Amino acid sequence: MIHFLSRFLFLTFLVFTLNLNSQNIQSPSEFLGYDLGTQFSRHHQVVNYFKQVSNQLPNQVKLEKYGETYERRPLMVAYVSSEENLQNLETIRQNNLKNTGVNAGTPTKTDIAIVWLSYNVHGNEASSSEAAMKTLYQLLTEKQDWLQNTVVIIDPCLNPDGRDRYVNWYNTTASTPYDINQQASEHNEPWPGGRPNHYLFDLNRDWAWATQIESASRLKIYNKWLPHIHVDFHEQGINEPYYFAPAAEPFHEIITNWQRDFQTQIGKNHATYFDKAGWLYFTKERFDLLYPSYGDTYPTYMGAIGMTYEQAGHGRAGLGVLNDEGAILTLIDRIAHHTTAGLSTVEIASKHAEKLNTEFKKFFDNSNLTYKSYVMQGDTDNIESLKNLLDKHEISYGFAQGGKVSGYHYNTSSQGQINTTSKDLVVSTNQPKGKMVKVLFEPNTKLSDSITYDITAWSLPYAYGLNAVASKNIVPTKTILQAAINNTISKTATGYLVTWNHLKDAKFLADLLNQNIKVRFTEKPLKTEGETFNSGSLIIVRGDNKKVDDFDNIVVNTANKHNRKLTTAQSGFSTDGPDFGSPEIKLVNKQKIAMLSGKSTSSLNYGALWYFFERQLHYPVTSINTENFAGLNLNKFDVLIIPNGYYSSILNDKGLEKLKSWVASGGKVIAIGNALNAFTGKNGFNIKKSETDKKDEDSNNLIPYADREREAIKNLISGAIFKTKVDNTHPLAFGYDTNYLSLKVSSSAYKLLGKNHFNVAYLDNNPTKVSGFAGSNALKKLNNTLIFGEERIGKGSMIYMVDDVMFRSFWENGKLFFANAIFFVNNNAVEL
Ligand SMILES: [Zn+2]
Repeated sequence: MIHFLSRFLFLTFLVFTLNLNSQNIQSPSEFLGYDLGTQFSRHHQVVNYFKQVSNQLPNQVKLEKYGETYERRPLMVAYVSSEENLQNLETIRQNNLKNTGVNAGTPTKTDIAIVWLSYNVHGNEASSSEAAMKTLYQLLTEKQDWLQNTVVIIDPCLNPDGRDRYVNWYNTTASTPYDINQQASEHNEPWPGGRPNHYLFDLNRDWAWATQIESASRLKIYNKWLPHIHVDFHEQGINEPYYFAPAAEPFHEIITNWQRDFQTQIGKNHATYFDKAGWLYFTKERFDLLYPSYGDTYPTYMGAIGMTYEQAGHGRAGLGVLNDEGAILTLIDRIAHHTTAGLSTVEIASKHAEKLNTEFKKFFDNSNLTYKSYVMQGDTDNIESLKNLLDKHEISYGFAQGGKVSGYHYNTSSQGQINTTSKDLVVSTNQPKGKMVKVLFEPNTKLSDSITYDITAWSLPYAYGLNAVASKNIVPTKTILQAAINNTISKTATGYLVTWNHLKDAKFLADLLNQNIKVRFTEKPLKTEGETFNSGSLIIVRGDNKKVDDFDNIVVNTANKHNRKLTTAQSGFSTDGPDFGSPEIKLVNKQKIAMLSGKSTSSLNYGALWYFFERQLHYPVTSINTENFAGLNLNKFDVLIIPNGYYSSILNDKGLEKLKSWVASGGKVIAIGNALNAFTGKNGFNIKKSETDKKDEDSNNLIPYADREREAIKNLISGAIFKTKVDNTHPLAFGYDTNYLSLKVSSSAYKLLGKNHFNVAYLDNNPTKVSGFAGSNALKKLNNTLIFGEERIGKGSMIYMVDDVMFRSFWENGKLFFANAIFFVNNNAVEL
């Protein structure tokens, strides 16, 4: 027994001393069994290395799992600091939140810098998770001094599903030894590539909308910390050596001088290391700070020094590649550069820890913002969706107390006022996250330069279809708790009615169809039980569902689940408008939907649609690879969705003939964005491009070389919002008003459809641009052009959607058009 005890004590002592000695932690190469950079590490190996180090040095490395990807890979961060700081981690976190005002109280100390390093948000920019391991190791073995006043939060991989898609593909494809020829298979990823996540979203466009589980999970932990510095590690083309801060113009106007200056200081610190090693780099070009949904801008608008670092590489580089300048770029080099830039960031943070804290505090003072409150009114479902988004960002809001509010009126783009009620949402800038509120809600984003990397308009009242006023005064609010709708069964009812205004109504419809309940919709407004039901309203008639046991329970429970208000009609005889048996009240067909995927399709658009069906609408869709289109039996389907893409290889003469005869017999095609080009000028299709005058193009010939980029943007629309006219008597627009604000992300424009066809949403002779940048030539092309329309061919329909309502899945108010296209448009065609 004594012997056993002493042995136990000895072992404990041994483990204890090992734990405390950072020299004894394993390096990545020792742990992995190969030299770092000579193989790509799969995600679980990266996770295991972090676990190993945390086990070996628990007093300095703490791991936290913050979520799981759609493919069930763990999302995690490591807190790395001195023993003392790690013991006081919770106090440091609280002090930081108190410093910003997010938490009440006075911080006891504010001398610790908090640096957050985010790796591998784009899965095929795969050097960064490798660099994360090396950075962890070097911090603990060589840079202990910096950790005395710095907490480093390392997220080794923001996009594990994408990383493993790339790494597994590379490992199964590459030659041994690796082939440096750019044309080798190992340098050419197949569709969709490893960049996006499971649903093929670009997670570096998703921070603000947080539609994906990776982003939503990350925001929770990010908001618990609000770091002072955030670095997002990326890779760019194989010929561009390295990019780091300071960023390029345009900067959003809320970015402070301190944030600008410190970016420059950080850049200069990196430069000393890069210069010494003879590594090339560039700064101040290309990557701007405007669109709020990036890994640099989002943290910036939350007070941090938010930065993007770009190493040459990405999916094209593999373990080694010969670039166009004749140099061999290796994974080992890529890791070295990212590691150096990461460590240099920690170094300068540590040097300026106190200043970072004092300046961070100042950022959260929002007393100088012009607009104090944004007041929004409209459909309660739209308000509810917006509240959900605000909750993800932990931005507070309330409801109006009634009375008039004046200010900038979003619908008229001028001064105006609205009468508020307690249903109206009020979001104030008079809160710690007020600057983010301004960025997300302001009607127009000020542009210091129109050459930008991304869309220039995203104002949330437009995206959520809400009428709004921006007020220079603080609008008082109250808290309102919405009670859930609780419908009750009426065994005597002829039918149940539900209005149609929002995607949530479509989800309810999809749920009923999935349960084999027959549902009707009205093409004309009707009145019953003292209420008006606009076109598109759903009617669930008992007589249609005689064979369904438990009919009332299913309908009522489903409505309660979706928080839909049912009206029970005791008779099919309407007070006004069509009766339930009228030809204007049609049975919704339980549509069988196919959607093209794979090569030729835009993976982003396909992914957004996939996500829409699987996670939002919850309605089945069959994915058909474009390679199998020739053999596809279209007669098994009612609807074919053709995502944004380039289809000349499959929609050739033969492919178009096949499609046309299927449509003529009653099929329905929904074509999106550039997919329309497959039909322009083709026999039997009425869709035509709108081009600029030849004259304009000729005058472009005499431009100085240096102005070529600025000249080219005249032809661009970099994400701008336009006011469209809507024919809401057409089923494609049921649930909408006579105006709709559309986000245009491309300058492609199409003429209005001819007579006998339906221009459902369109721009007229002099379209109103509500927000964002559009080049002068691009604007000219937009007069009298189509946004959404239907062309009848035989019994079936072509539905053209010029603007992509699923773009990054954040334009909430557009999604109902898509549900209408599936379930309502040309419903006669599918009584097959
Ligand atoms: Zn990237």
